[in-house]
Amino acid sequence: MNHPLLRTAAGVAMLAAVALLAGLGLGAATGWAVLALGALALLANHVASLAALIRWLKQPRATSLPEGRGAWDEAFSLLHRFERAAAREADRLSHALLRWRQAGEALPDGVVILDAQNRVEWCNEGAGRHFGLDLGTDVGRPVINLVRQPEFVAYVEAEDYAHAIPLRSEHSGGLSLSVQVIPYGEAQKLLLSRDITRLEKVETTRRDFVANVSHELRTPLTVLAGFLETVRELKLDPQRTRDYMNLMAEQARRMQRIVEDLLALSNLESSPEPSLEERVNVQSLLARVMADAEALSGGRHHITLDAAEGFDIAGADDEIASAFGNLASNAVRYTPEGGTVRLIWRASDGGAEFTVEDTGVGIEPQHIARLTERFYRVDRGRSRETGGTGLGLAIVKHALMRHQATLDIQSEPGKGSRFTARIPARRVLPVAARTQDAATA
Ligand code: ADP
Repeated sequence: MNHPLLRTAAGVAMLAAVALLAGLGLGAATGWAVLALGALALLANHVASLAALIRWLKQPRATSLPEGRGAWDEAFSLLHRFERAAAREADRLSHALLRWRQAGEALPDGVVILDAQNRVEWCNEGAGRHFGLDLGTDVGRPVINLVRQPEFVAYVEAEDYAHAIPLRSEHSGGLSLSVQVIPYGEAQKLLLSRDITRLEKVETTRRDFVANVSHELRTPLTVLAGFLETVRELKLDPQRTRDYMNLMAEQARRMQRIVEDLLALSNLESSPEPSLEERVNVQSLLARVMADAEALSGGRHHITLDAAEGFDIAGADDEIASAFGNLASNAVRYTPEGGTVRLIWRASDGGAEFTVEDTGVGIEPQHIARLTERFYRVDRGRSRETGGTGLGLAIVKHALMRHQATLDIQSEPGKGSRFTARIPARRVLPVAARTQDAATA
């Protein structure tokens, strides 16, 4: 009896039975009157429920679904269930849409959705950064009216989207972009932009580096080849031959130094970061650095070492030795005879520092920021004369960086320079532990 149609039929049958009984007992007219009144009441109930349904359909809200009577009760409750399922589905879809939008927003690349006429339908923050697009004001506008660079307009209009094009952004300080249109769906398009500024810089550095290495090696090689030719072709007396041989040996040594420094740099780049467990015995390392500096100076400079005791460095001995050694040898090489070079190792606020002070030629301020670039030299001739490769400070910077240490350079032309390697506290070890290590070993 639960089916609404059965319930309606039962109601009608009951009304007919009551009307029949009334007709039999009280006369046919009464029976018909009862039937008519009953049918009217049933109809009124249906009309009222129908009106409530129409009212609700005009403004459907889950909470305000009307209550139905009789067969309508069932219909309304089914409608209610359907409405709740639809609301849940709509909720799920809007959540999914929100998640997609959030994912699109989070992309570091620029994303713009274009319609068939290349009008902006949606864009993310990346597109804002790259093209200056704004979701609030630019939706519905043709993208070529918003990004007007001729190469971009030509790319969009040519409709050949097999490749990305390079584009310099007119926003965010002129980033280098790679821009590509990807057609999808029914004539819609995705416009993607990627920031390739860093990539481009790495590529330029790589190209410059290869060009520099080739140039640096070619010069001694040309000289060497020239001398060889001379010795082979001309009949030289033994003294001249020896002189030429010495000059050739000098060029070969120069090439050797360049190759060794290149290998040192490449090792620094490719080996894992020095561990915190290894101990660099700074006192003995500084004694070696001092001895090398004195040997290089050959008594032409006054060199002092002022090393505080009590702390070592956690890291790789050969890397720290190469960093400190290069700073000391530079000070000797760029200080004229009679000058002073001071090597100082001491505790500092942030950990410890190794300073090399000289009274040498000094450096003009505009060069200082570039000194650690590979092959950068202030004075090529002077660097070469003293056996420089132009890679020393690049090695120093790299070796220090791998120990989270920094290099500070202060200099005054004609007066001298101060190079300070700052070692952070986490890489400074007390010497008491060294003695303990040795005792337990
Ligand atoms: P190089 O082999 O030419 O010395 P480096 O990388 O060690 O290469 O140094 C780069 C440049 O920095 C040097 O060519 C020199 O011009 C300058 N320089 C380095 N150390 C000093 C110093 N102590 N005094 C003056 N100039 C220096």
